[in-house]
Parts: sequence; C-alpha cells; structure tokens
Amino acid sequence: DPDAGLAPLQFQVMRNLQAKSAAERDAILANPGFGTHFTDHMVDVCWSVGGGWHRPQVKPYGPLSLDPAAAVLHYAQEVFEGIKAYRHADGSIHTFRPDQNGRRLQRSARRLALPELPVSYFIQSLEELIAVDGAWVPSGENQSLYLRPFMFAKEAFLGVRPANKVGYYVIASPAGAYFKGGVTPVSIWLSEDYSRAGKGGTGAAKTGGNYASSLLPQSEAYENECDQVVFLDPDGNVEELGGMNIVFVFKDGTVVTPQSDSILEGVTRDSILQLAMDRGHRVEGRNISLREWREGVASGDIVEVFACGTAAVVTPIGVLKGRDFVDQQPVGSLALELRQELTDIQYGHAEDRHGWMHRL
Ligand code: PMP
Repeated sequence: DPDAGLAPLQFQVMRNLQAKSAAERDAILANPGFGTHFTDHMVDVCWSVGGGWHRPQVKPYGPLSLDPAAAVLHYAQEVFEGIKAYRHADGSIHTFRPDQNGRRLQRSARRLALPELPVSYFIQSLEELIAVDGAWVPSGENQSLYLRPFMFAKEAFLGVRPANKVGYYVIASPAGAYFKGGVTPVSIWLSEDYSRAGKGGTGAAKTGGNYASSLLPQSEAYENECDQVVFLDPDGNVEELGGMNIVFVFKDGTVVTPQSDSILEGVTRDSILQLAMDRGHRVEGRNISLREWREGVASGDIVEVFACGTAAVVTPIGVLKGRDFVDQQPVGSLALELRQELTDIQYGHAEDRHGWMHRL
C-alpha cells in the first residue's frame, strides 16, 4: 500500500446550526426512499497543483458555490463512488470493503486525469462524516446510509486540459429498498441503438458522463415498461446494466459474469462471486454474448440471471425485453441465497470471515 504511513488529514469540523431535529430525522429515517434526503453535514477537501490535498472540512450540508467557468460544468471532469454504512444490533456503524471503493476511485480519477486521493484519506473522509452524522444511519431492516464521495474539476478555465483545482466531497443519504417492489425480479430492456462504452473509453470509470449517456436508453426502458437497461459491446457481448453488473448461473453450477475493460468492476459482484466460490461454484469471467444468453435460457442451460450493485445489492432478473422479443428468465434460488449471505455479513448477523467490514 503506497499510502501506508501517510499522516491522517486534520479535519476542521463546523457544526450545522440548522441541523434537523431528532424528530425530523426520525420521520425521514422511517421512510427514507432513495437519494432524496441528505444528512446535516458534508466533507469538503481541496486539491491543487502545488498545494496537494488541503483544507479538509466537515461542514454544514448545503449548496456549493462554483465559478460558471468551472471545468466540470463544461468538460465533465468528474468521478464518484457509492458505498453504504450499516448499523449493527449493538448500535455500531460499519462499512463494507472501503479499500475497494477507495482504489476504484483512484482508477476512475486516473482515467479522468484527476488527482488520486490516497485510500487512507478516502476511508478517513467516511469516518469523519459518520463521526458527526452517525445518527443518520438507520436501523431498520435493509436500511443503510448511502455515502456518495465525489471529486470534480473546479478550476475556472475554459481550456481543455486537466484542471489545476479540484474538490473532493462526501455527502450521505439514508436509503431504504432501491426498487419500489422490494426484492422482486426486475425487467430488463435490451439497448439495441445505444451503447454505454467503447474500447479504450471511460466505461470502467465511475464518471458522470457514463450515466448521462445511459439516461436516454433508460427512458426507452421505462417506455417499454422495463426497470433497467442492459448494454452490449460492439461484438454483441453483454456488458452490464445502467448501474449494476450482471451474473449468469448455469445448470452445472458455473457462475459466469462478463469480463471486459469497459464495464465498472463492482465491489458487490466481486464479493458475491467470492461467496459463490466459497460454496464450491466455479466462477468464470468471460465474454457472454446476447445469443448465448438467449439460447442458454431457451435450452435450460442457464438457470438464473441476476444483477448486483451497492444500491440494489442482488436482484433477480425476471424478463429480458428487446424490440421484437420478450424472454422470460428462469427463477432460481442462488441469487437470493447469496444476497442473504452478503447482507448477513454487512448487517453483522454472520461472521465476517473475509475481513470485509470496517467499523466507522
Ligand atoms: N456497474 C455500474 C455501471 C454501476 O454504476 C455500479 C454501481 N456502482 C455497478 C456496476 C456495481 O458496482 P458496486 O457493486 O461496486 O456498487
């Protein structure tokens, strides 16, 4: 670890004098939804060429003041992360594999020519926010506090080059179930006209532009009564959904997931595949074409298809819809078993045998 021995940042903490009352907070936590309510504080750290990481603050949640020429508004030089904090029965608060998200933020930053935040600073930023906003971590079943670290170019300059001034922030939003229907199978729309990523592009980075370009195909999915959209690569191989990775379970127990330089390497997927291996499943990262998917389902070779990601955890796929076909997907039990196993670890109901949990 290149960051080992790095001294922690010295955060300045400014309390929000207009923080919500305990009653207001509890009303929100009783029914948090997803991504609409935010906690009382946020992390704000500056970076500049020459100055490095500086002026670390935890301050009242509120609007940012940006120069209209800030590079991010013009050229989308931005990266982000998504990770949750879970409350355990004894009241303690934990997060899941933050080193993995910290490293992924570094990889995303490298691709977007942004500075690489040391992983130890990343983890510290989550700890600092929870130290003041811990009361916002809900304790209800399947509830969590979704943490959203993000970094963007704030230098006022219209030339096209990496910005000399960057901001790193963390905000937090209490979260209930991601899909309205709970853990019921989701329907997937096949994007035939739009792709998400190209070879050598930014598909593996968690950067806003990837999500902006997924919105139109996602609207197409809604118009076709589907919950999510699945993208293919130019050769017809399955890549991923708009915000989740995809996993196929074969009749012989083999678990297959697309291997590609242009998809986001999900922490949930990596963990689920580890749990599947622990159970003796063979796990393969390889190309899987739309044709293999459809033929596998038709022949009974594929027995289960599911999506996974931090927000929705693990969700079975119930149907794949294209412009001129509707394929019902086989229903199996592995997805929900692995989901249970993973959430048992995250919520402290099962032994953390891989050392994945980190107390905040
Ligand atoms: N793919 C995309 C495009 C995503 O946005 C996400 C969510 N971060 C994932 C996959 C799943 O990643 P993770 O399991 O780390 O949340």
